[in-house]
Amino acid sequence: MTFWFIVGSQFLYGEEALAKVAEDGKKIAEGLSGLPFPVEYKLTAKTPKEIEDIVKKANFDDDCAGIITFCHTFSPSKMWINGLARLQKPWLHLHTQFNKSIPNEELDMDYMNLHQSAHGDREHGFIGARLRTTRRIITGYWKDEKVLSQIAGWQHAAVAAAFSKNLVIVRFGDNMRQVAVTEGDKVEAQIKLGWQVNTIAVGDLAEEMDKVTDAEIDTLVAEYRSQYDMDDKDIDTIRYQAREEIAIEKILVREGAKAFTNTFEDLHGMKQLPGLATQHLLSKGYGYGAEGDWKTAGLVAIFKAMYPECPTAFMEDYCYDFEQGLILGAHMLEVCPTIAATKPRIEVHHLGIGGKEPPARLVFEGRAGSANAVSLVDVGGRMRLIAQAVECVKPTKTLPNLPVARAMWKPAPDLETGATNWLIAGGAHHTALTFGASESDIRDLARILGIELVRLDENTTPDQLEKELMLGDLIWNK
Ligand code: MN
Repeated sequence: MTFWFIVGSQFLYGEEALAKVAEDGKKIAEGLSGLPFPVEYKLTAKTPKEIEDIVKKANFDDDCAGIITFCHTFSPSKMWINGLARLQKPWLHLHTQFNKSIPNEELDMDYMNLHQSAHGDREHGFIGARLRTTRRIITGYWKDEKVLSQIAGWQHAAVAAAFSKNLVIVRFGDNMRQVAVTEGDKVEAQIKLGWQVNTIAVGDLAEEMDKVTDAEIDTLVAEYRSQYDMDDKDIDTIRYQAREEIAIEKILVREGAKAFTNTFEDLHGMKQLPGLATQHLLSKGYGYGAEGDWKTAGLVAIFKAMYPECPTAFMEDYCYDFEQGLILGAHMLEVCPTIAATKPRIEVHHLGIGGKEPPARLVFEGRAGSANAVSLVDVGGRMRLIAQAVECVKPTKTLPNLPVARAMWKPAPDLETGATNWLIAGGAHHTALTFGASESDIRDLARILGIELVRLDENTTPDQLEKELMLGDLIWNK
């Protein structure tokens, strides 16, 4: 995807100045070429019609992930209203200046008229505030690493938002019975996030499984063998998981879906809960949420799309170690192997719930590092995104009798405060645990999508959080 660079100016300074503005604008766009996604100089904006036209084009161009604006000179902002009021793409206001410093003798009134983003960008900032248009502002010299890295993060968030707007999620079966937090308003999710969340009958999946050929299974099992440790005594069980994976993926491809859910309570016609099958699909970039949790499935898919090279897993908070201040996370099967610190091993064990045959699953230890645990909850009338800073550690216990993948982490600032904050905010037991998206990326994503973000980190206290949420109810329930 591409980002469009639009430079603000006006006719006041003459043709020569405008030519220089355009030339500098192109140079800045070229200077941004090292970013993760290309930035294309589009226009030096001088009239309301030019701005409106370019915004309309951006809105309907599927390849345009967002616009980046900068006012090289003063650019009167009433000129921008009709365009910006119609903008449907993410907007970055890059508050920079063509030259890094103020020259001494070269500086005269002509220079001042040309290089006055400190002046022009204030007018531009005002109209963004006045229109209450969602935008990100990044300030600094356009060649500085810090600025480039901030723009890069925003680009990733904008591309992830575009992915969200086209996301299709397949639900094999409904939510787990009686569970509250995995429920939610799918109409609201589609309006705000773009997600199309629809069901496919589990019986149709079982039929698709019957059609999978031995040759297809052979190929996938060879892939398992190349990536994971496995024991051939389990081969029949492993082959059954391959059959499930192939059938699930065929349906996802047919539906144009990048995420799915299922539930152990609805596996009619299936002999095993998909474990290895789901984990391998997760490793290929699909989102997943267990027990019908389509909200977490969507989040996992989005973070995988935001940073395809970075680990993101479907995760569940399970047990506390109050002695060490750590949370043990796992799931009955479906943790994504991208977070593995050890080579995953395919194992077959009895599963105490669901009443099906013992399923094959990947067992491994999660990696260490800074991450974010992210949850999306429907708090009635709106979606709330909750993102907690966590520090993952190498699991401190070997847990020889735990037959599933596991991870351990400390929420910021400590287990007791972090867990209290999580409960106050209403965060789910399911999360997308992502090592890719930073706080700033998640903030950009929430801003672009227009949903509430509750950030929980080392500075969050329960008292402040309660007040923030009460204010949030006033702000968001309009
Ligand atoms: Mn669960």
